[in-house]
Amino acid sequence: MRYEDEYRRSIEDPEGFWAEQAKAIHWHVPPAKILDYDNPPFRSWFVGGLTNLCYNAVDRHLDARGDQLALVAISTETNLVREITYRELHREVNAFAAVLQRLDVSCGDRVVIYMPNMAEAVFAMLACARIGAIHSVVFGGFAAHNLALRIDDATPKLLIAADAGMRGGKVIPYKPLVDAACAEAASPPAKVLIVSRGLDAAEPKVAGRDEDYATLRAAVGDAQVPVEWLESNAPSYLLYTSGTTGKPKGVQRDVGGHAVAMALSMRTVFDVGPGQVMFSTSDVGWAVGHSYNVYGPLIVGATSLLYEGLPVNPDPGIWWSLCEKYGVRTMFSSPTAARVLKKHDVDYIRRHDLSSLQYLFLAGEPLDEPTAHWITDALGKPVIDNYWQTETGWPVLALLPGLDMKPVKFGSPGFPNLGYRTKIIHESTGEEVGAGEKGVLVIEPPLPPGCMTTLWNDDARFLRSYFGHFKGLLYSSLDWAIRDEEGYTFILGRTDDVINVAGHRLGTREIEESVSSCPVVAEAAVVGVADELKGQVPVVFATLRQATGEAQVRIDAADSMRKQVEHSLGAVARPARIYIVNALPKTRSGKLLRRSLLALAQGGDPGDLSTLDDPNALEDVKRALQRGP
Ligand code: ATP
Ligand code: MG
Repeated sequence: MRYEDEYRRSIEDPEGFWAEQAKAIHWHVPPAKILDYDNPPFRSWFVGGLTNLCYNAVDRHLDARGDQLALVAISTETNLVREITYRELHREVNAFAAVLQRLDVSCGDRVVIYMPNMAEAVFAMLACARIGAIHSVVFGGFAAHNLALRIDDATPKLLIAADAGMRGGKVIPYKPLVDAACAEAASPPAKVLIVSRGLDAAEPKVAGRDEDYATLRAAVGDAQVPVEWLESNAPSYLLYTSGTTGKPKGVQRDVGGHAVAMALSMRTVFDVGPGQVMFSTSDVGWAVGHSYNVYGPLIVGATSLLYEGLPVNPDPGIWWSLCEKYGVRTMFSSPTAARVLKKHDVDYIRRHDLSSLQYLFLAGEPLDEPTAHWITDALGKPVIDNYWQTETGWPVLALLPGLDMKPVKFGSPGFPNLGYRTKIIHESTGEEVGAGEKGVLVIEPPLPPGCMTTLWNDDARFLRSYFGHFKGLLYSSLDWAIRDEEGYTFILGRTDDVINVAGHRLGTREIEESVSSCPVVAEAAVVGVADELKGQVPVVFATLRQATGEAQVRIDAADSMRKQVEHSLGAVARPARIYIVNALPKTRSGKLLRRSLLALAQGGDPGDLSTLDDPNALEDVKRALQRGP
C-alpha cells in the first residue's frame, strides 16, 4: 500500500480511517462513536468503547502464541537473562495484579514505578493496566528530588521500587532514595513495595509502609485477576517529559487510542508483526520504553527485548550479539548511543551475523549526518530517523517501511505520519511557510489517537504550553523545522535553541552539525551567548575523539572547528569562543542540556539540574570556562 494514499485517507476521512485501525485491537464493547471533538482542542477517540491494555498485550495472545517468547529481559549488570513466554507473562502479571489488590490499589489509583530495565517493571506496568490503576514510571536513574516532584504531582497510593539499580558494575541502592523522596514529598504513598534482587540488603524497612514483593508474590500463588474493562478515554498512564527545557510535564495517555496507535505504528512504521522480534534499547522510564518496549510489541504479539546495562559492556558488540542470538528484526535506539558506538571499532558490529536485522530506528534528538553515515556503513541496513515527543507517544515524522519505504535522506526524519496534520508556520505571522523556509512545526488538532489527552490535573497548563502560541488552535511542537521540495521535513532544534547573531537567525543545530563534521570532534553543543555588539554570539562546547590534556591539541582542534564553520555556514556563524571539555552535560535521557551550558557561559546559575545525568560534566564545563577558550 502506498504511503501517499494511506496518508490522504487518514487526513480526509479520519473517522473512517481510525474506525478501520481500531479493528486491530480487542474491544470488550466496540466504540459507539469514533471521534468526539465538541470541546477543542480536547478530543476523545473511540468514545464508549471498552477495552484494556493488558488484555490486548497479554491475554489476547494466549491461544495462538502462549509458548512464544513475549519478553526477554537481558541484564549485563546482574548477568541475568530471563526469557518469558506469553503464558508466563500472563501468570506473572496476574500475580502482580493480585499483589496490587492486596495493597489496596484499585481502578483509578496512581502507582509510581521506580525501577530499572528488569522484567518486574514490565509486570508492574501491565498489572496496573489490568486493574485500571494509572502507572507513572519514573526513570530509575533519577535522584530523590526528581522522584519527590513526580510523587507530589501524581499523588500515588503505592510506590513500587527495586532494591537497587546497577550501572557499569556499580550498585546504586534505590531504597535510600525512596526514603528521602517520601520524606521530601508532601503527599507520600501509603505503601512502598520493594522488588529485591538481593543487591542491597542493608536498608531497614519502614514498619507499616514497606512491603516485600517476593513474600507477597509467594502468598498470592497463581491467582487470577479479572481484567477491568475501561472506557477508551480513561487515563492509562502518566509519563513525565524529560525536563530538557524545565519543569517536567505529566503527560496523560488514554487506553483505546494508545492501543490503536501502537498497533498501527508497529505495522506501518516499525514493520514488526506477530512472532517477530523487536529490540529497543530504551529505558522503560522513557516514552520509547513505554511504547516500543512494552505496549507496542506486546499488543501485536511480537517478542520484545529489554536491556539493562551499558552499550559497551562486556564489549561494544553486545547489542549486535543479541540481535544475532534472538533474530532481531527491528532495532530502536538513540543518536547518543550511536555516537558512543562510533568511538569504537566498527568490527564490533561487522563480526556478527545480522541477516535477520532489517532496520535500525533512531529517535530522541537530532541525528547528525556523520553519525548517520557511520552507522549506516557499519550495518549495511537502513538507519531510520524518526521524530516524536513524550506528548505524542508515537512518531509524528517517519518513514513507513511497513507501507512503502521512501529513500532515507540523511538529516530528515521523513514525512508526516498517518493521522498527523503537520504544518510548518512562521513564528510571528502564523502563516504556513514555503518549501525551504524555516518555521515552527505544529500539529492541527484534533491530535490523532495515542497522543496525550491532557497534562495530569492541569488542563490549563496543557492549553498554555501547547496551544497558547499561535492564533487559531494549533499544537506547537516547540521545535523548528524546514521542509524541502520533496516533502522531507528536517528538525532544526527547539524554539528556544535559535540564536540571533547581528540579525542573522542561526539554529544551534546547524552549527553543531558543522562543528561535529571535524574529524577530531566527538560531540558538540552550541549556545547563543548574549553579546553587547551582536545581540548573541555562538559559543561552542566540544568533546574530542582523542585525549585533550595538551594545550596544543585543544588549540589545533578549535582552529579546525572555526575553519569548518566558516567554510560551511559563513563567517557570521563563526564561534566566538570554543571550549574543549571532557564531557557535555546531558539529561538522563541523553539529551544535551543547552540551557545549563548557556547559563554557565553567561555567568549565571545552571538552573533546574534535577534531570542532569553526570554532575562531573558540569564541573568540567565550569573548569573549562575558568581556564578560558
Ligand atoms: P521537556 O519537554 O521536558 O523539555 P524533552 O522535550 O527533551 O523534555 P521528550 O519528549 O523526551 O522530552 O523529547 C522530545 C523532543 O526531542 C522533541 O520535541 C525534539 O526536540 C527532540 N527530538 C525527538 N526526536 C527527534 C529527532 N528525530 N530529531 C530531532 N529532534 C528530536
Ligand atoms: Mg519537550
